[in-house]
Amino acid sequence: MIRIGPAGIPLSCKERTNIDGIIYTRCLGLSAMEIRFARGFISEEEAKEIKKIARKSGIEIYVHAPYYINLAGDKRNVEMSREKIMKSLKLAHLMGARVMTTHLGFYGNLSKKETMRRIVKNLRKIRNETKKNGIETWIGVETMGKKEVFGSLDEIIEVCKRVRGVVPTLDIGHIHARCNGCLKEKEDFQRVFDAVADLNLDHYLIHLTGVKYDKNGEIYHVPIKKGDLPVIKLMECILENDYDVTIISESPIVEHDAVYAQILLDRAMEMMK
Ligand SMILES: [Zn+2]
Repeated sequence: MIRIGPAGIPLSCKERTNIDGIIYTRCLGLSAMEIRFARGFISEEEAKEIKKIARKSGIEIYVHAPYYINLAGDKRNVEMSREKIMKSLKLAHLMGARVMTTHLGFYGNLSKKETMRRIVKNLRKIRNETKKNGIETWIGVETMGKKEVFGSLDEIIEVCKRVRGVVPTLDIGHIHARCNGCLKEKEDFQRVFDAVADLNLDHYLIHLTGVKYDKNGEIYHVPIKKGDLPVIKLMECILENDYDVTIISESPIVEHDAVYAQILLDRAMEMMK
């Protein structure tokens, strides 16, 4: 199954609430939506309401934690990050969300190894807490586009191997930016899926956007057509393997590129017939 949807309330949705965003997303013929806490949390009542409306609308819900997270920082940083992640997870659970995506942190002055050690240790604590609280939503850890930020594909895979109950959120634009535009052919996308094969995933959460980058990785997100990411090749790779995926559009023209991704998927399907 392939689901596609917007990150956040679609820009062209006049009513700026999550509920209207879900209904609007359905009207666009899409089937997933990511609820973002970038501008603050929602209430538990709203979370429960979202679950009801999403089920009725056939929209699968995903969640993104607030952006500023640092599980490798000092005590205060880690505690604040832990609180944000736990709150996001509780709300995600109430919404019936499948995955709650979070960033992990920064190297700062630390070595890559020490950053990894701290992140794994702190993430394990969070994972144990979710278990105790009966939270069913998975923790998704995102591949990051800037080289100065923790979250290369290899690092994310290592975290998923060392902390059970954690899955990768494959931000394809970020992976592309971090490897200086290495995703060109279907085989390049295949290498990404092959890299995570050891994790035995039965579903892949993908973030998609066009991206501008330089030697330091990501600079900023751009519409798919303004970047050099060959999304049609990604679609061919997904179809050929019959992967179960959800694609969340994080493009600046959010829902337009979600619909565009849907068109590219249909085009790839036609070409395979
Ligand atoms: Zn993110």
